[in-house]
Amino acid sequence: MGRALTAGQFEVYARRKITVALDILDGHHADLFGLCACGRPQPCSVAATCQATIDHYRAKLALVGATQPLRLVVSQSSSAAYRPGVALPAIGT
Ligand SMILES: [Zn+2]
Repeated sequence: MGRALTAGQFEVYARRKITVALDILDGHHADLFGLCACGRPQPCSVAATCQATIDHYRAKLALVGATQPLRLVVSQSSSAAYRPGVALPAIGT
């Protein structure tokens, strides 16, 4: 079993798959007599497979993008509430 890809590696892989699918899709469009340009009847199975690949990897890229680590932002109000040296009163003594 292979190693898991990092998010960056997966992004490169997915974008490459989309590019290749788009390149293949260029040769498949409606042509004369209701056939695909490749000669297959419409809907062309190759075009459908390429479109499914594009949709799949675009959806995965959206998920990977949404789970990227975000930059930590500290607001001014939360840092002002922190007062070092203030102790809570002891309970029960
Ligand atoms: Zn075709």
